[in-house]
Amino acid sequence: MDGRISTPTKTMEILKKYDFHFKKSLGQNFLIEPSILDKIVSSAKIDETVGVIEIGPGIGALTQKLAEKAGKVVAIEIDQRLIPILEETLAAYRNVELIHGDILKISLNELLSNQFSEFETIKVVANLPYYITTPIIMSLLEQKLQIASITVMIQKEVAERILAKAGGKDYGTLTLAVDYYAEAKIVMQVPKTVFVPKPNVDSAIIQLKIRKQPPVQVEDENFFFRVIKASFAQRRKTIINNLIHNLFGKDKKEQLEILLKSIDIDPNRRAETLNIGEYARLSNLLVKTVE
Ligand code: SAM
Repeated sequence: MDGRISTPTKTMEILKKYDFHFKKSLGQNFLIEPSILDKIVSSAKIDETVGVIEIGPGIGALTQKLAEKAGKVVAIEIDQRLIPILEETLAAYRNVELIHGDILKISLNELLSNQFSEFETIKVVANLPYYITTPIIMSLLEQKLQIASITVMIQKEVAERILAKAGGKDYGTLTLAVDYYAEAKIVMQVPKTVFVPKPNVDSAIIQLKIRKQPPVQVEDENFFFRVIKASFAQRRKTIINNLIHNLFGKDKKEQLEILLKSIDIDPNRRAETLNIGEYARLSNLLVKTVE
């Protein structure tokens, strides 16, 4: 199709035609390298049986490529100034629905039932606005939407936190929360040069395959995440100190020490050394024993 815009020249032509100025506050770094757009689409494994939710279509470079492969694409863009541009760049694609809105405010469950009722497989694909990478990923995961995977460009530093191994400085609440809901992998690292304007940070494409079952059995999910959050509140403190200062109170110190030892967790370990299985054991024990 010759209305394709995934080249630097075409992108510049469109931006000029509409006198569009980037808003840094909306994380507007548009992709101008066709091979990277192709890589996002191919790694997401999109075909006509798949419905796609795209977050932040920008001027529609990724949207066009997704629409060529998917059964349907619903693209959600917050910036009103981009809507007329998208109406032009996506005019030839009959399977695209454009929504002007904020991904963090839209009811995605409603969107799934209204827009994708005839699709069994729904995937999220995006070059995310980096100022809200974590809130977007966590909101997609926590809502337990009926989606198969999330394939997104994000800042490399956040990708490293998501994929970190226990024991390292990047390992933390984000690692554990994502691991609970999804299997994560890095598709590829991406240099700054494939965006306009160039972002200040390096990027990576990651893929989260949504788990059908969590990797650990947790009796109270809410409490499980509260234990994790409290444990990491001050990374240099021991787990016992974090738990008494941020969740239970000093008077529970002795009881907690005994309980931790009873499940083979040394109270003097630091939060970053515990794996997800240990957090599950810990929270399952504490939820029924400590008030
Ligand atoms: N997909 C385009 C591309 O790859 O060239 C643009 C990606 S750009 C990194 C992020 C896009 O997300 C921008 O178009 C921005 O306006 C949009 N955006 C920012 N915050 C948003 C929000 N809360 N909801 C929906 N879109 C948002």
